[in-house]
Amino acid sequence: MYILVINGGSSSLKYQLFDMDTRKVLAKGLCERIGKGGRMRHNAVGRNKLEFDIDIPDHTFAVRLVVKKLTDPQYGVLKDMSQIGAVGHRVLHGGQWFSESVVIDDDVIAAIERCIPLGPLHNPANLMGIRACATVMPGVPQVAVFDTAFHQSMPKSSYIYAIPYKYYEKYAIRRYGFHGTSHRYVSGRLAEIMGVKPEDFNCIVCHLGNGSSLCAVRGGKCFDTSMGLTPLDGVEMGTRSGALDPAVVSTLCARLGKDASYVVDQILNKESGLLGVSGISSDFRDVNAAADEGNERAILARDILVHTIRHYIGAYAAEMGRVDAIAFTAGIGENNAALRENVTDTLGFMGVKIDKVKNLNPDREEELEITAPGATVRTFIIATNEELMIALDTERLIKA
Ligand code: AMP
Repeated sequence: MYILVINGGSSSLKYQLFDMDTRKVLAKGLCERIGKGGRMRHNAVGRNKLEFDIDIPDHTFAVRLVVKKLTDPQYGVLKDMSQIGAVGHRVLHGGQWFSESVVIDDDVIAAIERCIPLGPLHNPANLMGIRACATVMPGVPQVAVFDTAFHQSMPKSSYIYAIPYKYYEKYAIRRYGFHGTSHRYVSGRLAEIMGVKPEDFNCIVCHLGNGSSLCAVRGGKCFDTSMGLTPLDGVEMGTRSGALDPAVVSTLCARLGKDASYVVDQILNKESGLLGVSGISSDFRDVNAAADEGNERAILARDILVHTIRHYIGAYAAEMGRVDAIAFTAGIGENNAALRENVTDTLGFMGVKIDKVKNLNPDREEELEITAPGATVRTFIIATNEELMIALDTERLIKA
């Protein structure tokens, strides 16, 4: 079976086509600047890469373009559209309605719409992708895979904020957590690699990318996670502050004469994090290079990142009472050996010790154990693969 995985953004649409017999990607690409001009990138196995400007007025046009390229005799990999057995969509917010992936029908679409206040930027864009596929590929089953779903297993003490309870009841204000598909994939791989049953297994997954979150997984299920009502909470990120005293917001509002939405949406989401502290870049590679050259603010930005990651690892170890493994994943977690070394440097007290040579991962292996002899907690680098997870969920639900 061939499965198309779609990640719809407000002005972009990313796609990957999987052959589920081999679990390999046959083609992938991106339509960007939708509604503002348009550009397409397409790359299929054994074919020349394509990149060109084309007017893409809306998401329906983008999906038509994707299907056209996938079935193109020169650049495609399919004979015709009927070979696409199902479409899996990444959907940001499933609120409290979805604790797992679902086949999309009218009720599911209505529920994703009801979650728009919780994911005002992403859910409408995800819905545009879903509707576009329904128009272009009528009758092809579609599945929604939610970033929040894996975290629905958290106990109330992890997800209820200590504010008046009526706001949870009235407005569903609570911790949701994000990157759930990545945390589920990586914790599942960890259990498989270690040869243990997920239900007997506790781990901490550090998803460190442009957006970052940590997840405490107890007995194979999410027990706690660092992102909250929105993806602003938790560790320092590229442009996001991570957790801070909420009174910072009211203080900045008073000092700047701005309202809370400006402070939160603009300053804390877009001007903070590595960028805000270093004044250099939101990209960890730039900040790291400047720090290595002695730039003090870059060193501080990097130190804060290490500090906040350790903070959550320590908290999660204390909450769960036992940790069997720690995994590093996503752009920074998979690629930056120095950060992994710095983070784990002080964790010897809880049994974490890494092999500094293996940690360099010279062969860029996608899954590598970096535990040092004598450690009681095993440490791994695991490349995340959210798209494969979406494809696997889609296949399972369609076959069921
Ligand atoms: P992601 O959101 O997972 O794509 O990760 C993006 C982040 O990963 C950015 O901060 C990049 O600087 C960082 N990153 C990507 N590749 C590397 C690398 N080779 N070394 C260090 N950081 C990297």
